[in-house]
Amino acid sequence: MHGPATKLPFSRLGRNTRTPRAFFRAPSLPEPCARPLRLRLRKYFDSMSFFTDLGLAEPLLRALEAKGYNDPTPIQRQAIPALLKGRDLLGVAQTGTGKTAAFALPSLHRLAADPKPLQRAACRMLVLSPTRELAAQIADNMIAYGKYLKLHVECVFGGMPVGKQARRLAQGTDILVATPGRLLDLIDQRALTLRHVEIFVLDEADQMMDLGFIQPLTRVAAMLPKDRQSLFFSATMPQAIADLGRRFINDPVKVMVAPQATTAERVVQYVTYVNQSEKQALLTLSLRAGLADKSIDRSLVFTRTKHGADRVVRHLAAAGVNAAAIHGNKTQAQRTRALESFRQGAVPILVATDIAARGIDVSGVSHVFNYEIPNVPEQYVHRIGRTARAGADGIALSFVAPDERAYLRDIERLTGIKLVPQPLPQDFLKNAASLPAAKAVPAEDRDDRRGRPELHRRPQRGAGAKPGGNGPRRDDRPAGVDGEARPKRRFNPRGPKSVGQHAGKVRRVV
Ligand code: AMP
Repeated sequence: MHGPATKLPFSRLGRNTRTPRAFFRAPSLPEPCARPLRLRLRKYFDSMSFFTDLGLAEPLLRALEAKGYNDPTPIQRQAIPALLKGRDLLGVAQTGTGKTAAFALPSLHRLAADPKPLQRAACRMLVLSPTRELAAQIADNMIAYGKYLKLHVECVFGGMPVGKQARRLAQGTDILVATPGRLLDLIDQRALTLRHVEIFVLDEADQMMDLGFIQPLTRVAAMLPKDRQSLFFSATMPQAIADLGRRFINDPVKVMVAPQATTAERVVQYVTYVNQSEKQALLTLSLRAGLADKSIDRSLVFTRTKHGADRVVRHLAAAGVNAAAIHGNKTQAQRTRALESFRQGAVPILVATDIAARGIDVSGVSHVFNYEIPNVPEQYVHRIGRTARAGADGIALSFVAPDERAYLRDIERLTGIKLVPQPLPQDFLKNAASLPAAKAVPAEDRDDRRGRPELHRRPQRGAGAKPGGNGPRRDDRPAGVDGEARPKRRFNPRGPKSVGQHAGKVRRVV
């Protein structure tokens, strides 16, 4: 055994470690003076780990150099050595921690080290992602990290023609990144088999659960070969997610980069108590002022519903604030365009629902606005994790209406952080009154499913029931209740002439 030196990171063992090892073993050093120095040295070597020390293949190191990455992030430092040995992994990691590279690099290494010819309609590595944007992002990262390797990467998700994807998969691929629904479509059409999967990655497991993907995941679990490596990532690890994990992983290495539900460090979090009807004005005025004095660089605004996101964009446009919306009712082309404009800075404000924004990696997001408070507290953690990425600082502002206070309490309980109250700006009412009204929605843009919250709600548990329960709030009631989109009429309308003509009978319209 190596005594204290074994506590050095894996990366330092066996390489350039002669000096510290010899030093730690030196019997001549008296304890009282050796300990502080020993601790300092250990700290120094812990912080000094490089990709070159992790045992990754040279083409991967070259690709990392091209990306300008020198040092692995903590999750990469912890996960890569274990994954290179073929272990399963359970990773609890906040967004922006570098977890994509943490699973991509060792997987690419292992696939390249054991080259095999492509199998028809099959893949060797399967990565499941809850959203299309995240799937595309993961595939892009895989291609970038593997650019000096001869590995084939495909990405499939809904909103694109399935036939085209099936044709692309016919020759087989090394790596497939997919959303669960489209993956099962392709399997059902016999365009894909999971029989040859060697590495399986389930990313953002908690969002998979929120989106109701539990059935598809159970089906996928049953189709995967027993002999495989499995990686399971989630930003939070409530019991239900841990139970889901048990179906996939076996004796995993556990990597926890931040404690469960720790709010992104470096995000300063404010709350403004405001009526629902005044939120739009508060948002417009805050964004307009922030963009004008350049304190806001790029900002994400979260709404609870798709319709709400569109409505916010219309109001912002009327007030001269350039914004785009991204949510599940937009076509894939619109979603890609909105994200790209935001990423490149052409549109500084992206208004998003939780589904579309999860996992999106855009650097330079200075502010996150919670226009509506999520009723699943973990979602708050994900939202604010969109800012303060890659070492930057960030600001999160939550607008809390009276009926959202219970949600806020849940969030503060989960994160252990009390949000800093921020009063309404000076002259708020006067300035709000001067804002222009939003333009009416063009008929062709109307959305019959508007008003429905996009996320599947978790069931209400016991006491602590929220105002209005888990159902949508007053301005978000399901179509037909709030006069915006009515359900199909079951009876013929009674015009003035027809009043009374049924004589008590009604005719059912089939
Ligand atoms: P992820 O958590 O995988 O979404 O990664 C967050 C961001 O960090 C992405 O922009 C990555 O490209 C970037 N990143 C990942 N690993 C490193 C690294 N070792 N050094 C610098 N940036 C990194």
